[in-house]
Parts: sequence; C-alpha cells; structure tokens
Amino acid sequence: MNFKDLNLKKPLLDALEKSGYTEPTDIQKKAILPIIEGKDVLGCAQTGTGKTAAFALPILDKLLENDISGKKEIRALVLTPTRELAIQVRDNFRKYSEFTNLKSGVVLGGVNQKSQEAVLKKGVDILVATPGRLLDLINQRIVKLNNLDILVLDEADIMLDMGFINDVKKIIKSAKEEKQTLLFSATMPNEVKTLANTILKNHVSISVETETATVEKIDQSLYYVDKQNKTSLLMDILNENEIKSALIFTRTKHGANKLTKSINSMGIRSEVIHGNKSQSARVMALNNFKTGKSKVLIATDIASRGIDISELSHVINYEMPEKAETYVHRIGRTGRAGFSGTAISLCNIDEKKGVQVIERLTNQPITEQENSKYPMKHFELTPKKNTFNNKNNNRSRRPGKSISQNTKYR
Ligand code: AMP
Repeated sequence: MNFKDLNLKKPLLDALEKSGYTEPTDIQKKAILPIIEGKDVLGCAQTGTGKTAAFALPILDKLLENDISGKKEIRALVLTPTRELAIQVRDNFRKYSEFTNLKSGVVLGGVNQKSQEAVLKKGVDILVATPGRLLDLINQRIVKLNNLDILVLDEADIMLDMGFINDVKKIIKSAKEEKQTLLFSATMPNEVKTLANTILKNHVSISVETETATVEKIDQSLYYVDKQNKTSLLMDILNENEIKSALIFTRTKHGANKLTKSINSMGIRSEVIHGNKSQSARVMALNNFKTGKSKVLIATDIASRGIDISELSHVINYEMPEKAETYVHRIGRTGRAGFSGTAISLCNIDEKKGVQVIERLTNQPITEQENSKYPMKHFELTPKKNTFNNKNNNRSRRPGKSISQNTKYR
C-alpha cells in the first residue's frame, strides 16, 4: 500500500514526497481512511509509530475538501499533554500542509500570551494546544470553538495522569456539539476507556504493535551499583563508550538538575529538560542536543514524553522508573527508524526488584554488566517511609485538619 491508495489530495502527496515518506506506517494504514470517512477513532499507539501523520493527514484532507481557510475559524483542535509535543505536532501539520493555504498555530503555557493572541487573531485552521493555556484563552473569549469540526486528544493517558481531565472536559463542553473526535493513547487504563466511552460516538478502535516489540531490537544492559556511585559509573560509561548521543532519565526534576551540574563540572556538556524549566530553556536544550552541541540530554519522564529524536544512540536509566511500562517508553526512544540502539540501566538495591517486572513485560532478559570498579556493597533495602503511622507526624498534625489537608503542609 502507498499513500496514493489512501486517496489523499495532491498537495498532501507532494508534501509526503518532499518529506521522503514512501509507505504509510501501520497506524497510518489503519487510521487514515476511517478518519476521512468521518468516523470517531480510538487509537492505541505510541509516539514513534507515525501517529501524528495518521491523524494530521486525514484532518488536512478533510479541511481541504471544504476549504474555508479565509474565514479565520478554528476547525481542528489537537490537545497534547506537554509543550514539546504540542510544538512537534504543530510542526508536523505545517510540514504536511506546506502546499496548501491551511494555517496551523500553537498555544501553550509557560510563554507570554501576547504572541499567541497575535497568531490567533491572524486566523488558524488547526490549533494545537496544551489544556491549561487553552482553557485560559477560552475563558477570556480569545479562543472560540463553536465551529470546531475535529477534536484530537493526543497521548490521552498522559493527559489524565497529569491531572488535565477537568480542563479537557471543560474544553470539550465549550466546543461545537456535532464534531468528529479522535482519541490516541499509548496505554488504555480504565480512566482512558471511561473518557473514550463518554466522548466518542460509534467509534472505530485501532491499535498497532506496542513498543514492547520494538524493544527487541535494542541492546539492553544493566549495572548493579550503589546509589552514591552512580554518577562516577555514569561518567566512566560516557567517557569509555562510543556514545554519540545519550538521553539520560532521572525520576525527579531535582535529580535532573543535580546530575546535569555534576556532569557539566566533569567536562561533558549536558542539557536538562523538565517541567520547571521555561519553554524557551526547554526548546534551546532540545535544539542543542538535536544538533549535537551537547551529547547528553537529561530528562524526567513527563518532560521527555513525545519528544522525537531520530538517531539517538543511547538511552541511560540513571534511575530506574517506577513502572515497567515507563522503562519500555524510555528505551523505545533509541533504535528508531532502522537505527540500532543501546539502553543502559544503573540499578541500586532498591530498584532491583523492578528489573524482574521489566523482564517479564518485555519477555527478554537484560544483560548484567560486570562492575568491578564500583561493585554493589549495600544489599539492605531502604525502609519505606510511612508518614501517617509515625507518632511524631501525627502529633505535628494541625489540630482540626484532616490528613489530606495536612499533606499539603508537609
Ligand atoms: P510520530 O509517531 O508521529 O512521532 O512519528 C515518528 C517519526 O516517524 C517522525 O519523525 C515522523 O516524521 C516519521 N514518520 C511518520 N510517518 C512516516 C512514514 N510514513 N514514513 C517514514 N517516516 C514517517
């Protein structure tokens, strides 16, 4: 099958040719026709599968069918959980609509609202947005969705995880009732299913091979090491191996900041992205990494979500993720588009138990590397803090306040 078989309009086919895409990916083969036919779609697919084009191409095709681009009405809206993903999706729309009059814009938090207002005033046919800022603009009556034909919720699982559900519901409520809705999610937990059942009408379900299968192509290894030796071991790995580009994951924003300071002080230029960084700092960090100015990018899971870095040679888990699925998302950033990929994990005693869960999920063993320089010496698990069984904590609780109210003051 090629793109012509999907009946896409000529300007879109020209843009695809310019992008060098010859064949639709699996998700594109499955999603494009039903979307053009006007069906609601529930898509289970991850970043890296060609998911963005799977909804962007048929949306553009439909907007071209009834081209009223001069009217300055938002006709398609894509909601994404992170600012990086929003920009990436907008860029994709721009790439595929290069030979049309259709205009795409983005609104997101963390940057001044004025420039976004100016773009909206000029008129966009397709708007890509993060929920919080969009809701602000709707409340200020700067954005109106009363002519919206198509709504896309991208990475719905993350959007719900990040607590955007109420904003999303309010946005949907402010939009035209009769519209086509597409919901994409990498995983299908119950919350996503419930949301899908509430907002989709007679939908078509589509799913494509999960990242777990892609992971088979990645060379995975692991060092058991004590927490306090992780940075030294990491520096050895970065110095010894032929690492062209490494995406390093930490669990927390604070951990990411600390690690980037250590790495930079030891002479390897690294960038850091996480939710507390300003939008311009995140864009600059990502650009420096993508262009090879820095060979290391340190990220938290949420901030890195949806970021597409082609030709990434290594993913390093400086800290193991809490969920096995997150491990799969993390290492799936390497080994894309036919490139080989390597994933290295640094695992302390507290994180060891999770390794078996990951191996069960991926159905693959992770090769243990010998670590003679920093062998593991601590085999005792750190006791879990149980705040509310602790007498001292109970005593410090403010009188008359419930436990949940008190947690805010901790
Ligand atoms: P996505 O899952 O949308 O983030 O896409 C992952 C990567 O695949 C992006 O770099 C896209 O530009 C690229 N891509 C999307 N569709 C195709 C295709 N049909 N052929 C080759 N590359 C593609």
